[in-house]
Amino acid sequence: MSSTVLLVVLCVVLAVAAAIATLAAWLLTRDHRRLEARAADLAEATERLNDQLFAVTESEERHRSLIEAQGDLIVRRTPDGRITYANRAYATLLGTSPDALIGSTEAPIVQATSLIEMRGDGTRLFDERMADVGGEERWISWAESHVPMPDGPHLTQRVGRDVTSRVASEQQLDEALAHANSANDAKSRFLATVSHEFRTPLNGIIGMADLLSDTRLDAEQTTYVRALRTSGHALLSLIEEILDFAKVEAGRTTLSEEPFDLVALAEGVVELLAPKAHDKGLSLATLADPALPPLLMGDPDRVRQILINLVGNAVKFTETGGVGVRLGWQDGAARVIVEDTGPGIPADRLSAIFDEFEQADETTARTHGGSGLGLAIVKRLLPLMGGEIAVDSQPGKGSRFTVTLTLRVAGAASEAVIPDHRGLSVLLVSHAPFEAAYLAEIAGLTGALIRQTGEPADAQGMLLAHPVDVLMVDLSVGAERARELAILARAAGVGRRIIILSPFERRSFGAPAAAGFDAFLVKPVRGRSLLAQLRDRGQPAGAETTSLAPENAGKLVERPRVLLAEDNEINALLARRTLEKLGADPVWARNGQEAVDLMMAALSGETAPFALGVFDVRMPIMDGLKAARMIRDEEVAMAVMHRLPLIAVTANVSAEDRQAAMAAGFDDCLPKPLVRDQLALWLKLALDPAQASPAAGTPAKEHAA
Ligand code: ADP
Repeated sequence: MSSTVLLVVLCVVLAVAAAIATLAAWLLTRDHRRLEARAADLAEATERLNDQLFAVTESEERHRSLIEAQGDLIVRRTPDGRITYANRAYATLLGTSPDALIGSTEAPIVQATSLIEMRGDGTRLFDERMADVGGEERWISWAESHVPMPDGPHLTQRVGRDVTSRVASEQQLDEALAHANSANDAKSRFLATVSHEFRTPLNGIIGMADLLSDTRLDAEQTTYVRALRTSGHALLSLIEEILDFAKVEAGRTTLSEEPFDLVALAEGVVELLAPKAHDKGLSLATLADPALPPLLMGDPDRVRQILINLVGNAVKFTETGGVGVRLGWQDGAARVIVEDTGPGIPADRLSAIFDEFEQADETTARTHGGSGLGLAIVKRLLPLMGGEIAVDSQPGKGSRFTVTLTLRVAGAASEAVIPDHRGLSVLLVSHAPFEAAYLAEIAGLTGALIRQTGEPADAQGMLLAHPVDVLMVDLSVGAERARELAILARAAGVGRRIIILSPFERRSFGAPAAAGFDAFLVKPVRGRSLLAQLRDRGQPAGAETTSLAPENAGKLVERPRVLLAEDNEINALLARRTLEKLGADPVWARNGQEAVDLMMAALSGETAPFALGVFDVRMPIMDGLKAARMIRDEEVAMAVMHRLPLIAVTANVSAEDRQAAMAAGFDDCLPKPLVRDQLALWLKLALDPAQASPAAGTPAKEHAA
């Protein structure tokens, strides 16, 4: 082979080698770039991960510091109680570090637990009392929930807040409240005791003044005695109000539940206050819805007390016009509305007047007196009786108090019987506010045709223009005018004439018949009396009420012996004098034991029999209740024919006192001071036992109705 060939071959080999080398170099460069790019990507990803890791670490730190900073206790446990997480506050409670708690089952010693709430999401809220590591008592309020875990059983998480100081202040508040309540109770007890004690000497003062007023006195002395009695009664009613208020406040008011006639009760209250209203020239009227059941169940004494307060206020504050009492029945509730044409009450005082010692304005309070307790008592009593009161008033025009009382009907419900007077034409001449409208309404219920006017001149015109069957004239139009109307009515052929008059005007008016009238109705007119008058068209009516005057009662009694048990000398003197004035022969026992001894002597025939016993309840040595029980036992043992009528006398006649007296064998329980009329009535019954049958009712009840 020639060297040329060799050279060519060598060149080719070299060229190939160079090409391979170039290719290899190219390939190497390309991979290197790739690797470099990859490395750069990886570096970047690492950096991003580092950033994220940092951010997560920082966020966790932030949350951890947040959890630690807020001071709540946090702990998580596995179902077997092992701690998987505890914050510093929880660890501090156990006196250790969070790390030391991980995996342990350590827990504080709980002294008491109370469940407060179970929420819909399963979270349990409860309080625990426990001792911390220093032995100090702590209250923790926990919220316990379950935290689901992706790779295992649920964890129980508790988040707790230390409420020790809140619980302590709540306990202090409770203690302060209990303290205030007991101080309030003590105040009420004090008031009740003090006012009770005040009554005894006061009864002596009033009673002596009563006795004094029966003796021969000159005009000046009469004025002084009258002032003494008025002041005594004012003080007595004030003391009674304070006593009542104290009782209601102390929650010691017990209510009776007995059948009573609301209409008779309200009419009784109106009659009681009628003289005062009459003195002021006010008309006073009642109107009863015939739908009212005849007997309702409730506490009649409390209902009367409420009505006396409301009607008494209306009469007290009203200077001109009148006062009306409407009784209604709706949906099982009685409604009593007391309305007046008085000064009214400013809107901003309407709720304050029901607070104790509050009066609408001080000037009227000074003029009219009063304690500011009446409405406070009413307001507190009513809810106890299932009732409520509302007031609306227009200053300058009048006020209207509405009492609603939910009361059960006693006995079977009966339909109201309203007489049918269709076709009867009635002319009513009266301008009495409320009364004129009430009378017209009652008469209108019967179907009668009512014409009403306040002007006698108009009445004359009406008498001539229309046929009139019944003429009713209120004497407040003037006696002369009334007579003229009667004469005119007679001339016009009026079938029946009724005159309405007040008991006071009646005296000055003379006999109704002489004035051309044939009947009269005593004001305040009772709805039933009016209906009766319209019904009995043929018969002239007489006075609708008769009362036993004390002076007559004295004549009825032929010196019956009355056993009087009373430890207080003044009260005894008072009762003895009163009994003597009633014609009785009082025999005084200074305590229950003496009374029993005297009674035994009478029962055994050693002394003359007693007609009546009047016993104070509270007496030393032996009280009135025990004495009554002993006397009753002895009467049974001796099989006596007529047991002695026995009356208990007490300063507080509450329902309980009354029940206790009746249970001991008394026939009645009367309040101090003893009212002469009540004693007289009992004397009369004692001497005429036929009247003392249960159907006749006890004098106390008759008196109260
Ligand atoms: P008192 O009558 O002893 O002052 P009450 O508690 O019965 O106390 O009444 C509180 C106040 O409410 C009265 O002082 C009076 O200002 C006002 N008041 C009550 N009833 C009436 C009424 N019918 N008309 C005007 N004011 C009244």
